[in-house]
Amino acid sequence: MSSAINDKAEFKERVHRWAEKLGARVTSIAVRPMSTKWASYSTTGRLTFDVSLLGLREALQDYVIAHELLHFFAPNHGRLWKSLMRAHLGEHEQLDRELRRVAHKRVGRRAVS
Ligand SMILES: [Zn+2]
Repeated sequence: MSSAINDKAEFKERVHRWAEKLGARVTSIAVRPMSTKWASYSTTGRLTFDVSLLGLREALQDYVIAHELLHFFAPNHGRLWKSLMRAHLGEHEQLDRELRRVAHKRVGRRAVS
């Protein structure tokens, strides 16, 4: 049994598991349509994810989730962020490329920020 509501709940559960694993603070998680990004976060711990992530395979969901959560520790995509991504996701560049290919098929959509 699968429904949009179950999928959202499952996705949020996934975000919570990642947040626990990474030790990132999360105050709220929203899953809704976003026009230009896959996800965003605020320094207060508010996370927003694009609802179309629910249709992607789990490895890509994990990439976006970890990507955002690691911005709690590193605000940009510099050395620290890259080394954290590598530590937790391994060869993440491949996932980034795959996500960009998916994004390319959608009008106006950009990569993860
Ligand atoms: Zn980013």
